[in-house]
Amino acid sequence: MRSSSEEDIRYLRKNTLQVVNYITFILIGIIFYVAIIAANFKNVVFEFPRVWLIANIILLLVTLASQQLHKRDRIEQAAVTLLGGYILAVDITLLHPGSLQSFPPYLFLLIVALCGLLISPAASFIVALTCILTSFALLLIAPTVEVGALLHLTAPYSLSVLMALITWGSAENLTTAFGWAVNSQLRAQMRRDQLFVSQQELKKANALLEATNIRLAEAQVAAEEANKTKTKFITNLSHELRTPLNAIITFSFILAQNRNGNSNASSLDDQQRNYLSRIQGAGEHLLHIVNDLLDLAKIEAGQMDLFSEEVEVEPTARRALQLIEGLIGDKSIELILDMPDSPLRVVVDPTRLQQILFNLLSNAAKYTHEGHIILKAEPADGEVIFSVTDTGIGIRQEEFESIFKEFHQTQEALHHKRLGTGLGLPISRQFIEMHGGKIWVESEVGVGSTFYFTMPLAVSQPIPT
Ligand code: ADP
Repeated sequence: MRSSSEEDIRYLRKNTLQVVNYITFILIGIIFYVAIIAANFKNVVFEFPRVWLIANIILLLVTLASQQLHKRDRIEQAAVTLLGGYILAVDITLLHPGSLQSFPPYLFLLIVALCGLLISPAASFIVALTCILTSFALLLIAPTVEVGALLHLTAPYSLSVLMALITWGSAENLTTAFGWAVNSQLRAQMRRDQLFVSQQELKKANALLEATNIRLAEAQVAAEEANKTKTKFITNLSHELRTPLNAIITFSFILAQNRNGNSNASSLDDQQRNYLSRIQGAGEHLLHIVNDLLDLAKIEAGQMDLFSEEVEVEPTARRALQLIEGLIGDKSIELILDMPDSPLRVVVDPTRLQQILFNLLSNAAKYTHEGHIILKAEPADGEVIFSVTDTGIGIRQEEFESIFKEFHQTQEALHHKRLGTGLGLPISRQFIEMHGGKIWVESEVGVGSTFYFTMPLAVSQPIPT
């Protein structure tokens, strides 16, 4: 089986052979034409040598044979036949007196060169040798040729061998260059094929992506619809729950205070009073959850509006601390407020700042048994950094992010059976981010936690030096 570059070289040789055959036909025609003219004007112009005529007929026959073989794609045989005919024709012309001194022996050079083109560069040596041997043998046995005349063949013979050498050398380079060209073409074809395959795959991937995008858009619309429905449901439910809850809290408070209008101090015993205070506590807890859910639903629906104004930090912070005093109960916890000497002002929605501080401080109170809780605020680079530090149960580092997600409660908190919803921190984060601030935590289990958050400093705030 031939390699593709061999196939290509063979194809080139086939074309060349066709051209050589045509040229030979033209040459034969010219020679016959000259012979006819010579015959018509015998002795007037010149006498046409008979050997030339025989050589021409031989050349015609082998060219016809070569052409037939070429048609049957037997290129090698066609080339050998043609070259063989050429050698024979030239050998015969050498028999004509005076030919050895003239141009015919130099025709061997042409035959050697043709062999390089039509058969192979290496074969041109064999052809050169065949030219030399056949002509020499024929001339030796020919009666008309003088031995001394054979000396004239030295030059064409040497040149024939030289021509074989040149043909071999240059054709070898040509073959190599041709091989390179074919290989490059093959590589280019391979790349084109790969590119085509990649393009097809890309098209498929694109189509898939488009289909996925459409499904994604549909899913997004459905999710948004579901979200709207959920928000509407929570908002409605929260409103419906708040009215009876407020009634429960208020009336249980009145009952617990024993202000039933009759001023009958003995109408409730201690156990009943205890039950009432539990009802009130549970009601407040439930109301807190409902309020948180309502806030979250409003934020998610984008219905939470901020009413920002310049707020002085210290009074707000002091109020928040007072609010959690009740949560500390009889635990030995010191509440500390750490504020800068000069008054600090921020641009915030005061209700939301109060809510954030309350969430962080109530968490600190909830998850601390003893020690202290510090509420601090300090200005820094166009904002105010608030921090709430406690000496409570602490948080593991891998939960620093997840505690800001809805309904997340740490293992430590669950272990200490602390009541919570997992909504305070996510809501606080949403409020802080709505103000353009950020929140983060630093903590160590068993040592305590510090929650930091930032809020924009008021423009009227003098920059501390
Ligand atoms: P919760 O109502 O459960 O306190 P939060 O969203 O406020 O909800 O807090 C989420 C979780 O983060 C809590 O359940 C608790 O596990 C943990 N956490 C929050 N603050 C503290 C704190 N100061 N010390 C220890 N754990 C805390």
